[in-house]
This record gives sequence, C-alpha cells and structure tokens, in this order.
Amino acid sequence: MVMSSPGNVAADPTGRIAVLGRGPVPAGEPVLRGDDLGVLHGDGLFETMHLRQGRPWLRDEHLARLAAAAFAVELVLPPTAALVDLLDEVREGWPAQVEGALRLVCTRGPQAGGPPTIYATLNGVPTSSRVARRDGISVATLPLGIPADARNGLSWLPAGIKSTSYAVNSAARRWADRAGVDDVLWISSDGYVLEGPTANVVWLTGDTLCTVPAATTGILAGTTVAWLLAHATELGLSAAERMVTTAQLHAADGVWLTSSVRGAAEVHTLDGVRRTRCPRTPAVHALLGFPV
Ligand code: PLP
Repeated sequence: MVMSSPGNVAADPTGRIAVLGRGPVPAGEPVLRGDDLGVLHGDGLFETMHLRQGRPWLRDEHLARLAAAAFAVELVLPPTAALVDLLDEVREGWPAQVEGALRLVCTRGPQAGGPPTIYATLNGVPTSSRVARRDGISVATLPLGIPADARNGLSWLPAGIKSTSYAVNSAARRWADRAGVDDVLWISSDGYVLEGPTANVVWLTGDTLCTVPAATTGILAGTTVAWLLAHATELGLSAAERMVTTAQLHAADGVWLTSSVRGAAEVHTLDGVRRTRCPRTPAVHALLGFPV
C-alpha cells in the first residue's frame, strides 16, 4: 500500500498517558512494575476507542464489554465511574478536530498480589489506519486450525474477551507483512471465515449487511460492527449474523473489516483477487462517522 497521508488532517498532539490513582504522567514515565502479571503472563484486558470531537465514541459499549470480560476472567475492576474519570483525565484538552485512539488497559497487577494496574493512553490515529479507511485494504485468508465452533461451550475458556494476550494476533499481523497484504482473515478448519486479528468482517449480500455470529464462534463481539448492523436500516439495508465461506465472501457485493480506530476498511483484494469496489462504502463511512 502507498502510504500517502489523507488530506486536511491536523498535526497530531503528543501521545498521553494517565494512571488510575496517579493522574496524567509524563510520556516515558514507567507505569508498570516489572512483575506485573500483564507483562509476565499477558494477564489483562484492554479496550480501544475512537476519540472524535474530543469524546470517546461508543464509550459505554466498550466499558460494558470490558466489565463482561473482567467478570469472565475474575478480574475485579474499580467502579465504572472511576474508569470514566480516568478516560476524561487523559483526553482533557485534546483538540476536538484531531481524531484519536484512546486505550484503556487493566492488568491483574503485581505477581505477589495487589490491585489491578489501570491506565489509559491517547494517541493520534495512525496514518496507516486513515489510509486503509480511505483506500481500502488487501486481505489474505489464514488458517486458524480449529473448527468454527471449537470454543463454543468450553466453560473454562472465556471466549470473545479483549485480552492483552495478543501473541497469536500479532503473529498473524507479522504474517500479513511477510505476505505483502494489509490484513488477514482467520478461517476455521471447517472452512468458515471468523474474524481478523484486530477486526470483524462485514459483507453485503443483496440488501443484507452480514457479520459472523460471535456467540457461537467465540470471536470478539465488535462494538463497531454491532453499531453498524444496528443502524443498517439507515442505509436501506437489513442486518443478519451468518456463517460465511471464503467462496461466499468472494461473491459478496461488498466486504469490509471493521474496528474501533480504523473504522470500516473495504477489502479491495481478497486472496489476490481484485474486487469491484462497493458503491455503498462512502455511505458506510458516513454512517459510522469516521472522517475519510
Ligand atoms: N476482533 C478482534 C480480534 C479485535 O481485536 C478487534 C478490535 O481490536 C475487533 C474484532 C473489532 O472490535 P471493535 O469494533 O470493538 O474495535
């Protein structure tokens, strides 16, 4: 992909960080202990939100998903109001015209015990995300090696949580780099498309906007896709959750990957096959409210 910067984008302010109980700390200041279980075991949760007009979009949906995940992994978080205060602290004074990526991180804290480590970071949206939103992305399918319903019903395994254990997701992104594609879509061993390492898949079949069911597959229930499908009627479309094969995705009238910061990135190439651009993409961007 050619990394030209989209036009009319204000210069990003310096990234920020604020720690629960400490408030804003200078960039570069340590915020984690060396024995924090978030570092030692990837034992933590996070949420990333899109900051627009200085406010986190879908904040309450993100906090609800975080609370559900915390319950699932038995991580005791402070009251939601304290998390909201932390988000307010880190975003205070951020210029309204600059879109941001606002991350909330909650780890299990020190190995010897103690409260969870909770902090928020705020940075400008990476140029690569804005370019992907504007120009679309190439995607390759990648086997995940498990059936689509493998995680369903494993009561010990919290599925669909946004864990800081992103080793598998990061490996998939590195594979994408090596393969010369922008992103990947994981495919189950029984041939179904699941999700990307940091995004859900959305496709258009006729007048129906579809995504993969999270409840039966254990993928992450995305906040962006949930909002998009809940508002599909504003595009004159209906919405549905369906399983989909790669062949069916090739035949779809439009395919996008959706996530909080990148928004909807249209898949212009799937497994090396160039797709006809979907005329509805500008309306999808407009509905989601992401600048293009
Ligand atoms: N699936 C995975 C594995 C993700 O990591 C993400 C976001 O990072 C998504 C889907 C999209 O979720 P959301 O729209 O809430 O950002």
